[in-house]
Amino acid sequence: MKTFVLDPVCGELIIWENAVAILSYHGSLHYFCSIRCRKRFQHAPSKFTQQIQVLSGVP
Ligand SMILES: [Zn+2]
Repeated sequence: MKTFVLDPVCGELIIWENAVAILSYHGSLHYFCSIRCRKRFQHAPSKFTQQIQVLSGVP
């Protein structure tokens, strides 16, 4: 069974095993489909973590 994770930068669902980059931010791990996405996240983490909170609030 594959575990999917959300790339907070581009919004793509990626298979956990295929994540190219993983970053720990504020105690939680974030997975990225590419190094480019990770760099964008590192540039403005709060911008992308706010999106996560909005998404997780949707039932
Ligand atoms: Zn991405």
